[in-house]
Amino acid sequence: MSNIKTLSLTTRIIIGMFAGFVIGQFLQWLMPDGSDFVIPLYIADLSLRDFLVGGVFNVGGEIFVASLRMLVVPLVFVSLVCGTCSLQDTTKLGRIGGKTIGLYLLTTAIAISFAMFIALLVSPGEGVNMSANTSFASREAPSLAQVIIQMFPSNPFAAFSEGNMLQVIVFSLLFGISTVLAGDAGKRIAAFFQDMNEVIMRLVTILMNLAPYGVFCLMATLFTDLAWSTFGNLIVYFLVVLAALFTHAFITYPVILKLMAGLNPIIFLKKMRATALFAFSTASSNATIPVTLEAATKKMGVNNSIASFTVPLGATINMDGTAIMQGVATVFIAQVFNVDLTLSDYLMVILTATLASIGTAGVPGVGLIMLAMVLDQVGLPVEGIGLIIGVDRILDMTRTAVNVTGDTMVTIIIGKTENQFDEEVYNDETAGKEIEEIDFHHLDK
Ligand code: ASP
Repeated sequence: MSNIKTLSLTTRIIIGMFAGFVIGQFLQWLMPDGSDFVIPLYIADLSLRDFLVGGVFNVGGEIFVASLRMLVVPLVFVSLVCGTCSLQDTTKLGRIGGKTIGLYLLTTAIAISFAMFIALLVSPGEGVNMSANTSFASREAPSLAQVIIQMFPSNPFAAFSEGNMLQVIVFSLLFGISTVLAGDAGKRIAAFFQDMNEVIMRLVTILMNLAPYGVFCLMATLFTDLAWSTFGNLIVYFLVVLAALFTHAFITYPVILKLMAGLNPIIFLKKMRATALFAFSTASSNATIPVTLEAATKKMGVNNSIASFTVPLGATINMDGTAIMQGVATVFIAQVFNVDLTLSDYLMVILTATLASIGTAGVPGVGLIMLAMVLDQVGLPVEGIGLIIGVDRILDMTRTAVNVTGDTMVTIIIGKTENQFDEEVYNDETAGKEIEEIDFHHLDK
């Protein structure tokens, strides 16, 4: 046990992930779906597969994701109020907001343009003969005016309970600004929020330490049920999306980081590993917010006054990985259905996908719902989504890891350009290690 404790959190998560994969595949081989390996239980006779996968692993995985999500709203509220209070000049907020949104939109537009370019080069849908057997209902793309109006909560408690991130952000910012303006009373409130922030961050640390087990459960469930046969016709599509995601994460981000912040990108990628693994296993940038925020502040050295704003905002509006999938999927579906898209159609795809990502929370599978809007805009059949849905889960996980990497990169650039960044922490390999190890011994006393 003590040996396991000395491993880094990243290594422990990777072990959990790999063990989940192996166990899942083993169960799939030993007890395929519907196997009659039944164990008599007190409540009902259950097949062993159902007991392990639908029972133990599923319960463990769901509890892990629910616990992460449980922290999101309180953490964003408390840390954003703290962040706003510590900004010397709250009039800077407008400029920071503009810069952040601009960078988020820019990286998303680069991502989708590049993805469509690769897809057009490789033509993953050419010669593929498939029929869509799933119907997929499209949702209308919200207008920009609607998105802006809906950012303002008429009832903050409703916004909190629904987890409507943009509304939570707006309320927290206004609350933070008023706290700064409220003199002595504001100072007392700010001190209280600082203490709350410490406590919630502890909770995040505890959860991070349980992550290897949670990740194990999620992977075991996924890989017991994963049907490899669905990959057949879609393997080229799958690989093109993966290649574009990896290129964006390992080439585009490092180049942007170097050019705009002059920082060593290798350090960035190394320090992103644990956060990317969280995002990968939960497939939700929203649920990963606590971990991304920890990484941006404690490991990368961005001041909380910036990160508490840019990280939750990014988890909501910045989805480069999702845009990449949408770019490739649009080209793929057009090719399968033999539809020729014009240059203006491609521009339309870039615009819709970039705008559709605003206001759509980062939760599993939301990318496909947004894809329906994109396909609608250029007159492609929405049923096309039925073609790719079978291989989407693993792509969803990978693109979520890219999404949170993009959020963190933009956070660093904003922190650096606003002088809210500690380069020593960034360059220090051991920074933030304390959040990876928690000692529960004092609880025994
Ligand atoms: N799961 C992704 C996220 O949470 C969104 C998506 O692409 O479906 O960032």
